[in-house]
Amino acid sequence: MTLSSITEPTDALADLLAGRLPDARGRFGPFGGRYVPETLIPALERLEEGVREHLRSPSFQQELAAQLTSWVGRPTALTFAGRLSERWGARVWLKREDLAHTGAHKINNAIGQALLARRLGAQRIVAETGAGQHGVASAAACARLGLPCTVYMGSIDMRRQAPNVDRMRLLGATVVAVSAGDATLRAAIDEALRDWVSDPFGTYYLLGSAVGPHPYPYLVRELQAVIGREARAQFLEQTGALPEAVIACVGGGSNSIGMFHAFLPEREVEIIGVEAGGRGEALGDNAATVSYGRPGVLHGTYSLLLQDADGQVQETHSVSAGLDYSGVGPEHAFLAHVGRVRYESAGDAQALEAVRALCEAEGILPALESAHAIAGAKRWAASHPGGSVIVCLSGRGDKDMPTLQQTLLKDEK
Ligand SMILES: *Cc1c(COP(=O)(O)O)cnc(C)c1O
Repeated sequence: MTLSSITEPTDALADLLAGRLPDARGRFGPFGGRYVPETLIPALERLEEGVREHLRSPSFQQELAAQLTSWVGRPTALTFAGRLSERWGARVWLKREDLAHTGAHKINNAIGQALLARRLGAQRIVAETGAGQHGVASAAACARLGLPCTVYMGSIDMRRQAPNVDRMRLLGATVVAVSAGDATLRAAIDEALRDWVSDPFGTYYLLGSAVGPHPYPYLVRELQAVIGREARAQFLEQTGALPEAVIACVGGGSNSIGMFHAFLPEREVEIIGVEAGGRGEALGDNAATVSYGRPGVLHGTYSLLLQDADGQVQETHSVSAGLDYSGVGPEHAFLAHVGRVRYESAGDAQALEAVRALCEAEGILPALESAHAIAGAKRWAASHPGGSVIVCLSGRGDKDMPTLQQTLLKDEK
């Protein structure tokens, strides 16, 4: 086989579908890998070994399944959105991660990694959080398993997301303010990594999305893949067929990769990731990393990222805090590269309009992140009359009330 034939995108996709990716170096084609200080390599290698030993073992799977059923509330419903479907002229189903414990999909990953940490003998957990959702999920999972939890959070984010800081503290976590760097998620990840380096074996770093150095993108994907497995089975049971399309929002990329995985082998199913289009196409006005980013290294992985001409990582903007990240998981960069998933963006205004639409038509207040996927579904419906689509409703919108009061509700009394 020649080099050019093994890097052929279709062969690469076949490798992914056959479970050969990430490869031994933690790569999805050109993306992924492990770009970290030398001091972290032993910890990552041990984690990789732990993942290999435990993740697929029957006893771990049993333990995880029990927590998912009795504590997280899985399986979550697959809801046919009848009135929305009537309005949009295509049939829309919602995978209800908003019904999962703590209000979003993040708990699937948090409880899974906390169980793994316990098996690896960790004495404490560190995590990072931006909007606070992953911090809350981690704090809850640690409380459930009796593990001490420290959450790093940018000081700017702590002000913006004060209610989540209180939730984490109530759940027993120590929240540490990070005022270095941009004082938001990027700086918080740096600080969590630093903490981990100082005690790589007693401490477990519970990463919140399908990003970071190998094996995290793989580990998080495996723990979130329950979303797509359930959705596929539920859809088949309800309709006897597969959907024509599957849509999810993409921040770091965990709810989307979890939703997509069960559908990747079904070539006739169109798969669409929706990124945050923010207020426009200019650098700094959005968080649409696959759409506008270029390859580079951020937080230990080679992927696409939003950077300027000098390679400086750029600030991002989105009305939804959970999508506001300048990188994206390497598997998404790969899926875009091989053309299996199409990435689009929806802007702040479209997301807000989608919140309103879902509230009024279905009695569901979606997270602003999830509203981007709803906006993507509206667009898809317009060009596929009568078609069928599953949207991953990654979380509920109660946490977004302050933003909604300043936007949608501003002119109402
Ligand atoms: C954090 C979050 C996201 C974005 O993260 P991904 O890793 O891309 O899934 C999306 N939706 C909700 C509700 C979130 O809390």
